[in-house]
Amino acid sequence: MILVLKKDATPRQEARLLAYLEQLGLAVTREACEGSAVWLLSGGAEWVDSGLLSSLPMVESVLPTADPLPLASRRSHPSDTVVQVGEASIGGGRFCMMAGPCTVESEEQLLSVARSVKASGAQLLRGGAYKPRTSPYDFSGLREKGLELLRKARRETGLPVVSEIMSAADLPLFEDIDVLQVGARNMQNYDLLRALGRCHKPVLLKRGSAATVQELLLSAEYILAGGNKNVILCERGIRTFSGGVRSTLDLTAVPLLHELTHLPVIVDPSHATGKSRLVPPMALAAVACGCDGLLIEVHNDPLHALCDGGQALLPAEFADLSRRVAALLEVVRR
Ligand code: PEP
Ligand code: MN
Repeated sequence: MILVLKKDATPRQEARLLAYLEQLGLAVTREACEGSAVWLLSGGAEWVDSGLLSSLPMVESVLPTADPLPLASRRSHPSDTVVQVGEASIGGGRFCMMAGPCTVESEEQLLSVARSVKASGAQLLRGGAYKPRTSPYDFSGLREKGLELLRKARRETGLPVVSEIMSAADLPLFEDIDVLQVGARNMQNYDLLRALGRCHKPVLLKRGSAATVQELLLSAEYILAGGNKNVILCERGIRTFSGGVRSTLDLTAVPLLHELTHLPVIVDPSHATGKSRLVPPMALAAVACGCDGLLIEVHNDPLHALCDGGQALLPAEFADLSRRVAALLEVVRR
């Protein structure tokens, strides 16, 4: 960590600061640069609260020297991470389509959607069993029964399944679920992230609706720091002030994340837009800017869906979108 002192810092202030830093156990190397004192702190400086140091009256600024993302950053790991889920590869120039209902509602609903998305080329089946709902009075999922139906759909179709986990305490129930989704609301649930870091299963980490790209990467770092290298990032829209849509789909995040990290980046245009007619154009835009996959909500009867019916594509609409995505990939990857 580097401290730049104010030009008018008095020798007395400098002496007091030095004594304080040394009392914290830090080694201080003092230099001068353009009339300011510049101090390099080492010997455990990563544990010191930089906010506290920058609040001291004689301190102009505090600059970090250590990489805040030693595991997630592209600098630390230049080649793309490819997450393998059954036969699907996510990242490293491969494209993965994930689709299914927002919520598992019944055997008939899930199997019908699973068969149709598989026929249209989806490689993973999504479906929520434990649903985070903004209102406590809304349908919050079939829970264990929902996971059971996902296993059944996997047996029938061969598609690996992705489902949201909300609490580390539920991990034993998700033991044979192929990909564990961390929803936007839980992106900064650090106990959950740490528990997922210890479990070595692919994790689909969604960006929080008010989170910066840097915060998303720091959440991924929690999982990586536990030893789990299988992290897939998902841009799903951020809090908007544009009327008529659920969120603003921040597509800038896709190429930016590809620059900053080696982890695969997928896009969820369903939750970003909240409107089924806006899903195909935003899905195609996401493909055009280089995402590694899409997460799309599909329902066989959206008008009677228990959750997110307004943003669900019909199976035929999903089939059409899949064809257009395949055609666009040919152009984008040429
Ligand atoms: C979901 O994928 O069903 C979901 C709840 O998404 P998000 O966490 O992005 O709101
Ligand atoms: Mn949903």
